[in-house]
Amino acid sequence: MKRYAAMIGLLVSVNLHCPSRAQQAPIKLEALKQQAVAETDKLQTFTQQMVDQVFSFSELGFQEYETSRYLTGILEKSNFKVEKGIAGIPTAWTATYGSGKPVIVFITDIDCIPRASQKPGVAYHDPIVAGAPGHGEGHNSGMAVNITAALVLKKLIDEHHISGTIRILPGVAEELVATKAFYVRAGLFKDVDLVLGSHVGSEFSTSYSTGNGTWSGLVSVQYFFHGKAAHAAVAPWEGRSALDAVELMDTGWDFSREHLRLAQRSHRVIINGGDQPNVVPSEAAVWYYFRELDYSHIKALYEQGNIIAESASKMTGTSVDHKLVGSAWPPFFNKVIAETQQKNIEAVGMPKWSDADQTLARALQKEIGAKSEGLKNKIEPLAGPVKDPTGGASDDVGDISWNAPMVYLMYPANIPNLPGHSWPNAVAMATPIAHKGSTAGAKVQAMSALDFLLRPELVAQAWDYFRNVQTKDVHYESFLAPTDQPAIQLNKEKMEKFAQELKQFHYDPSRFKTYLEQLGIAYPTVRSATSSN
Ligand SMILES: [Zn+2]
Repeated sequence: MKRYAAMIGLLVSVNLHCPSRAQQAPIKLEALKQQAVAETDKLQTFTQQMVDQVFSFSELGFQEYETSRYLTGILEKSNFKVEKGIAGIPTAWTATYGSGKPVIVFITDIDCIPRASQKPGVAYHDPIVAGAPGHGEGHNSGMAVNITAALVLKKLIDEHHISGTIRILPGVAEELVATKAFYVRAGLFKDVDLVLGSHVGSEFSTSYSTGNGTWSGLVSVQYFFHGKAAHAAVAPWEGRSALDAVELMDTGWDFSREHLRLAQRSHRVIINGGDQPNVVPSEAAVWYYFRELDYSHIKALYEQGNIIAESASKMTGTSVDHKLVGSAWPPFFNKVIAETQQKNIEAVGMPKWSDADQTLARALQKEIGAKSEGLKNKIEPLAGPVKDPTGGASDDVGDISWNAPMVYLMYPANIPNLPGHSWPNAVAMATPIAHKGSTAGAKVQAMSALDFLLRPELVAQAWDYFRNVQTKDVHYESFLAPTDQPAIQLNKEKMEKFAQELKQFHYDPSRFKTYLEQLGIAYPTVRSATSSN
């Protein structure tokens, strides 16, 4: 290692004084990447602790107070400049280190899923706290990836006097797709050169353009109907039922589905159905997600929803208003960054899974009736544009991807073939599977940032693709009306209900090496062949 460091020092000094920097750069870059990998390996315990700590906090969107306090604490201690409460969102922040160009942003989500509480390392449903939120997607691992990479980069920036700025941003309330359009509106990407997002997956991959074609954009809208209360038996004719309006809106929407494009996806939950049957409900509310493939089709669904809501209110003699609580453009990723990142994924390769890791994965897959094939061992090829995208999931990083060149690294920290947004997706997320996958992801994040910090021509190429291909004919327009504000009150009650109970399960790394150890879980815990529960 010592010889390596000396070599890097020599190359850097040559670079600083030699006019033919472009010719020297590749050699220096490779040496720096090797150092980044070695430094990331040294931080494995730190990475594991972050994965476990955020897992144990289990905080829902907009309520990520413990999580954000913990993460900004680490970054402040490492001399990052932290700004809190950005874009009018209490749990959002930025952390910046370095100076000058390029400005590279790392972003990843931090929130969890309602009712997904689950003991890690256990291959059947066994909540830590029954009914409580839990990391049933794996967002607890993203910051371990990005912060580990950022600390490695900080060390290299200091040691080798590299010019450039690195900035970390949290994906607050991503499960509600509720913040990134506000980040964009607040101007957080105005000075940004590129964005390296990371997201948990079961595969190691990146993509550009429409990727594998399974992204949709969306608006998330709550409709509030207001009627008139009355005794439901004594004087029902005096009442006007807001719940009737909700039910008629849902019926109206379901009839309109037949005439929508195959690419649309829409779903709802009734968030207020009234109080008790003998009171005509004066207040009721329903919450819709309207998904489509592009801005104009999403907008059209939104307008159709508004028409049906108005019609339902007329039919029932109630009134209605609505609130947009989230929105997302379909993501579109940058070819130049993706191609660069793909090489780093190939260089790092899949983590080495142990027998215990594979046993857990296969047992969980069997438990839920999924294909029982264990963990992936091969990296995915680079995914490019798809001709006929089908749509599917959404992520509000989509808005960012239309405001600066961006990619989304999927790092292998979870088990394949799981349903998503539920307890099975939490099983691996504080185990060696997530720990190793996060370390692998951090290496790629650091290496990819080095590519762009040291090769300004690559930044220029990424912008060329952004300006002349991606946004040549499509121009970003926010779904937000000027009066729309972040829905920071969402999840408050749900989180408060469980906060005290969850607190006793917060991970204490000063006493336990891992969260598995703290919970006393043997790894892996799988059903015995004879067990029948
Ligand atoms: Zn996510």
